[in-house]
Amino acid sequence: MRQSELRKLPSVDRLLQTEDIARLVEQHGRGLTLDALRAVLDDARQAVLSGQPAQGAEALIAETGRRLMVDARPSLYPMINATGVIIHTNLGRAPLSERARRAMAQVSVGYSNLEYDILAGARGSRYIHASDLLCRLTGAEDALVVNNNASAVLLTLTALASERQVLISRSQLVEIGGGFRIPDVMRQSGAELVEVGTTNRTYVHDYAEALHPMHTAIILRVHHSNFQLTGFVHEPALAELVILGDEYAIPVMDDLGSGTLLDTEPYGLAHEPTIQESISAGASIVTASGDKLLGGPQAGLILGKADLIHKLRRHPLARALRVDKTTLAGLQATLLAYLEGKAAEEIPVWRMITTPLETLARRARKWQRALKGTGVPMDVVPAESTVGGGSLPGQTLPTWALALEVPSPDALAARLRQGTREPAQAPDLVEAPPLVARIEDNRLLLDPRTVLPEQDGALIKTMEAALSAQPTQV
Ligand SMILES: *Cc1c(COP(=O)(O)O)cnc(C)c1O
Repeated sequence: MRQSELRKLPSVDRLLQTEDIARLVEQHGRGLTLDALRAVLDDARQAVLSGQPAQGAEALIAETGRRLMVDARPSLYPMINATGVIIHTNLGRAPLSERARRAMAQVSVGYSNLEYDILAGARGSRYIHASDLLCRLTGAEDALVVNNNASAVLLTLTALASERQVLISRSQLVEIGGGFRIPDVMRQSGAELVEVGTTNRTYVHDYAEALHPMHTAIILRVHHSNFQLTGFVHEPALAELVILGDEYAIPVMDDLGSGTLLDTEPYGLAHEPTIQESISAGASIVTASGDKLLGGPQAGLILGKADLIHKLRRHPLARALRVDKTTLAGLQATLLAYLEGKAAEEIPVWRMITTPLETLARRARKWQRALKGTGVPMDVVPAESTVGGGSLPGQTLPTWALALEVPSPDALAARLRQGTREPAQAPDLVEAPPLVARIEDNRLLLDPRTVLPEQDGALIKTMEAALSAQPTQV
């Protein structure tokens, strides 16, 4: 019985001769189409063996088409961030400004003067491109851009402290997340870690006692990016460490992580240390990320004394950690917005931080009106956004969010995360991208602060699709 049912299934060869499959071969290539076809036939055979009737050629061909749509689709695609976490590392950190996107597109289309000295008509250096801007913005003598802040720290320690000692407070032996732990990076660089002070209290004299005029290469300070040190605590100010370092001609390095150029305080947030402050406090080397509060592309910024930056630039590791032309173009464009005093208007991360409350309330109400037809009970409620991205831990910004009352917010959140990922709806991925929301007090919250204004239409489409798909289950 099952044998005769199995025989009803068409062969790969027969299906390949159909017009529909020929069209799929033309569109997706023979290799991908054959893989999909074989997988569909395998599934069909299993279905027959488990007692189901054999599917006809038409159904098998349609299924092959659906499978190809999924197989031929990139696994990385845009999403909507409705979580209210502005710098969300899992969602790609800083969205780029229009100016940065344009600069990156322009430089990637054709050739550029990436390493070409136009005056000399000869080979130049890619490292000049962002360094002038960085120096003008921060007062640093020189600057170097590498792949990310983790590589900035690794390069600096390797080039300046390998087989020598680095002093660091016990309160700063931190894990940033994503596997970046200061003691591990230190080991990788070949530097010897010398812990000073205690977990909660460290004084300048702790550094002074551990310091060895010959063996100490660097005094390192690491910003507590993602946790707060409170209670009975003490850490010396950067300027105090600089006085000690100067006495023995030992450079002080400040790993800021987020490293902002704009002050966060006027926007109701605590003070996040700025790069300019560290430079003017006398740090010899300051490291920061390009895609945290700076709001640019992924990059690691190293700023500081000219002789040290020169050493880093010449180290073989610098070549391995170098950035490409699109990063440099995007970073330059981002830095130019700061220099022109337009950062708060142009750079998405800062636009999100500075969005007025009334604007947030208005957008949440607009979403509410647009989703009225779904029949789901919802309300615009006060909530809190956070900056995220290893900056300002525990700090929040007041916001207005749209809160949906559904039987299972978790099930709805899961549907929204997956977007319209079913093969049948594959083309909708662009029109209605997947969305990440937040769940609070058993409600699903959508925070307008982190949703780009041009994504309003897409958000409504994604919400409607998820709410209408399985109303009984959500
Ligand atoms: C985020 C962070 C890093 C790592 O930066 P990436 O750009 O993610 O490589 C290093 N140090 C500190 C203090 C940080 O906050």
